[in-house]
Amino acid sequence: MREALEQLLLPAECLVCRALFSFPTSRRVVCDICRHRWRPVQPPWCRRCGQPEPHFGPCRLCADWPAALQAARSAVWLDASARAAVHALKYGGLPRIAEDLAEAMVRLEVPGREAACLVPIPLGRARERHRGYNQSERLARALGRRWGRPVVPLLIRTRETKTQTALTPAARLANVAGAFQLRIGDCGLRIHGEHVESAIRNPKSAIVLVDDVFTTGATLAEAARALERAGADTVLAVTFGRAVVPDFT
Ligand SMILES: [Zn+2]
Ligand SMILES: [Zn+2]
Repeated sequence: MREALEQLLLPAECLVCRALFSFPTSRRVVCDICRHRWRPVQPPWCRRCGQPEPHFGPCRLCADWPAALQAARSAVWLDASARAAVHALKYGGLPRIAEDLAEAMVRLEVPGREAACLVPIPLGRARERHRGYNQSERLARALGRRWGRPVVPLLIRTRETKTQTALTPAARLANVAGAFQLRIGDCGLRIHGEHVESAIRNPKSAIVLVDDVFTTGATLAEAARALERAGADTVLAVTFGRAVVPDFT
């Protein structure tokens, strides 16, 4: 019944190219052709942050990351079509598009995934109330179903942060500094050396942060820092899109 209702309410055309869906694919929001146009992020890359390697010298993007954040991977480059899909997820009131985005993230390889729990990057409370949902949590749940891994909203955002789009890398770091805290009580982590009663039951399991877009990694690094302070030693991160880092030099 609910599905039939959704069919009526949802657009019968691809969100990106406006092509009409044939009936069997109508559960999708983005058509197969557009999804196949999304350009996967592929090696050679920095093994830690997944960014294409600089031609000279070590990677600078992940040099200041907390030690716990061991790897970050993104599914596709954020060009026009992928950007439109993220925009629909965030601002278009179309949380169901998370299924399409998660489908592209399924093949992301992060070590320890088999035993990991997924932790969405939280929104500030006002922003989540305004939007009606947290897009990263929708992504995490769609991916968690595909990976067969639990989603644990471990983090809360302690203050609203400005939209990062127009900020330089240094300003991005300052913008998110101290923005995350642990939601005590649902986690399998040590706080000041003491075990916290756990919903995960396995404090050794890796934590996979889930977000929609990776730009400089500042948000993911800050979230990993909050988890590290609580005793987590293996944090990984996955995002749907990866923006080409703007050149601020
Ligand atoms: Zn399309
Ligand atoms: Zn790197």
